[in-house]
Amino acid sequence: MSDPSRAVASPAGTQTSAGPETVLSVEGLTKRYGSLVAVAGISFQVRRGETFGMLGPNGAGKTTTLEMIEGLRAPDAGRITLLGLDAVRHRRAVQQRIGVQLQSQALWPELTVEETLKTFRALFRQKVPLEGLLERFSLVDKRRALVRNLSGGQKQRLSVATALVNDPEAVFLDEPTTGLDPQARHSFWDLIRDMQRQGKTVIVTTHYMEEAETLCERVAIMDQGRIMALDTPRQLIRGLAFDNTVECSFAGSVGRERLLALPAVRDVRNEDGSNFLLTNDVPATLTGLMGVTDDGGERVQGLQVRTATLEDVFISLTGRRLRD
Ligand code: ATP
Repeated sequence: MSDPSRAVASPAGTQTSAGPETVLSVEGLTKRYGSLVAVAGISFQVRRGETFGMLGPNGAGKTTTLEMIEGLRAPDAGRITLLGLDAVRHRRAVQQRIGVQLQSQALWPELTVEETLKTFRALFRQKVPLEGLLERFSLVDKRRALVRNLSGGQKQRLSVATALVNDPEAVFLDEPTTGLDPQARHSFWDLIRDMQRQGKTVIVTTHYMEEAETLCERVAIMDQGRIMALDTPRQLIRGLAFDNTVECSFAGSVGRERLLALPAVRDVRNEDGSNFLLTNDVPATLTGLMGVTDDGGERVQGLQVRTATLEDVFISLTGRRLRD
């Protein structure tokens, strides 16, 4: 049976023509580890000044893709053009002009904040003043603090600062907010918005759909080494056959067929005893739901309505949640 919720507005990112404003063009990029195909011939492009997200669960191939683009891992096939250069053949030249955020665990714990930034600055011909970086990342007071004594949020800010020491044209952030509490995550988003205002091209991987939805102009949804869909978050969500989810549970049991027959319901998911009605007309579905309550004596216990998200797009495409 075909699943109406699978309809997504755009097919996988298959554009191949690179214009002058294209900062990054990836064509047929492939990486295998033994018999495992980690990245399966993906193609996409990123425009100058764009914030481009790669959203997918663990093991989708996001890190492998970034590492190939950054020149840290050799592709098995495909072509990467970054800042107008072949990123494999001109790896060193490209690396001078890009910023790569290391995982915060990869920072040296026994160096101070200032020593860390100086060490990274020494790697590049072009560099921004240290003071400006410390101010921008609210690390002035911590300049003499050892990395091992920083909070999670401070370490994360430092790791982004290290990616900007060379005033890069394109910045790569690999799951930058994993492990951060919501407050630190939101202040991190402000740093990314700051980069956007400066016109930087930002390529970010994440498995948080709110992050992709909030920050990214376009998002590639990845799973098992493939790009399943690529578009703006709004278009991806609009491509779904429903625009809202009504979550409900009942005092007694109500059959799936009964719920599927309710007005405007396109599909029904069942999880942990709750029913999720995927609807394109909330008032009509709610009215129908009240009818179930009246005639069968099955009282609705919990009821929640929420608008569709990129998580719904991912589930529609793969049948799985982003985070299991
Ligand atoms: P995560 O969010 O967990 O980092 P990801 O989307 O970044 O996931 P990758 O790290 O790129 O995914 O991994 C893609 C697949 O390749 C996974 O199945 C992973 O186990 C495998 N893989 C990654 N690196 C290696 C390696 N060096 N050797 C063998 N397999 C690897």
